[in-house]
Amino acid sequence: MIASDLNSFYSEMGIDPKLAELGYKIEEDLKDRFRAIDKTAEYNQLKILKAMQDNRVSDVHFAATTGYGYNDIGRDTLERVYADVFHAEDALVRPQLISGTHALTVALFGNLKPGDELLSPVGKPYDTLEGVIGIKKTRGSLAEYGITYKQVDLLPDGSIDYDGIRKAIGPKTRMVTIQRSKGYADRPTLSVEQIGELISFMKDIKPDLVCMVDNCYGEFVETIEPTDFGADLCVGSLIKNPGGGLAPIGGYITGKTEYVDNAACRLTAPGLGKEVGATLGLNQSLYQGLFLAPQVVSGALKGAIFAARLYENFGFSVRPGSFDDRYDIIQAVTLGSKEAVIAFCEGIQAAAPVDSFVAPVPWAMPGYNCDVIMAAGAFVQGSSIELSADAPIKPPYTVFFQGGLTWHHAKYGILKSLQRLYEKGLVSL
Ligand SMILES: *Cc1c(COP(=O)(O)O)cnc(C)c1O
Repeated sequence: MIASDLNSFYSEMGIDPKLAELGYKIEEDLKDRFRAIDKTAEYNQLKILKAMQDNRVSDVHFAATTGYGYNDIGRDTLERVYADVFHAEDALVRPQLISGTHALTVALFGNLKPGDELLSPVGKPYDTLEGVIGIKKTRGSLAEYGITYKQVDLLPDGSIDYDGIRKAIGPKTRMVTIQRSKGYADRPTLSVEQIGELISFMKDIKPDLVCMVDNCYGEFVETIEPTDFGADLCVGSLIKNPGGGLAPIGGYITGKTEYVDNAACRLTAPGLGKEVGATLGLNQSLYQGLFLAPQVVSGALKGAIFAARLYENFGFSVRPGSFDDRYDIIQAVTLGSKEAVIAFCEGIQAAAPVDSFVAPVPWAMPGYNCDVIMAAGAFVQGSSIELSADAPIKPPYTVFFQGGLTWHHAKYGILKSLQRLYEKGLVSL
């Protein structure tokens, strides 16, 4: 299609020609960064392809099992593929892991016993883990089982407080949870290399620590994963990066055999472990999603950088900046007003392939101390590898957005968000 046709299509899809033009210019500015992202995807594509070939993946692995799921060779082979991709000893990859929070919960409960202490050396973990750990009094939390928790916050400049960590590690410290992505917090995302340094520092102090990394939103952003740098366990959600948009449900736990087995005995039952768990016909989506994941993640990353650049252009503060190093797919844009946050989310929603006709509105979500607005028009409910945005309605009015199954959809969504700000008189083109 020639450029003028593309322009008129953007126009038909509600994008002002001046904005479409700015979009092309920004793509040009980001050419080198996009090339680097493509190289990472190329490497990760080969890594996954090799793991599939080495494990002789075949169409018999896509057959459905039911009931107990004994001898589900598709499931077992997929777990070998994950283990190889992460250069780990073993993996648990299951549709019965119903979310990232659940996968992390299973890894924690499987590897901690009463009297043990869990340490977070990088500050407060993801919101949903507060209940799991019992930071917030919650039924069934680790705290209720006599498992204590310590936290060492990052230093004001975002760096790791090594002195504080040295002091926090005691005789009871058994397990460490390290969150790679900033999630929706105001802190930098950690690189795999930084995580590796942190793990080796802690293991020098106490060699038998079980170091777990919450890898959500980080998979395939780099060519290395935390398991390449000393993590004993690496955990994530299949409706984020590694599911490639095709996995309809699931989570993974990969790492040392002993710790993966401990988690499996918690997920199913002691004595059953990894031997059971039917896959009900989902295997093909999990394989195919993993196969597509490097490409999908590259599109999401391009979208994040494009958004950073576009919004920088209009004077908004963005994190990370468009030329900063990037270790996850999340982009924060501080819009400064409630109206702008709502307009942004309306634009993302209007750009969706599913539910584009609904308007997102702020509401009082349980667990938040203010109204929250969410934009998502996803094929898989709640999938945040698909283009999605959410924001708490409170100062400084920052919206967090992520995903995009394809780069071109991410680009359109971001243009549409800015278009909506323009239509509401909040920016001028
Ligand atoms: C998404 C996320 C989780 C939890 O995953 P859910 O699937 O939403 O339960 C945990 N940690 C981080 C950093 C995340 O981004």
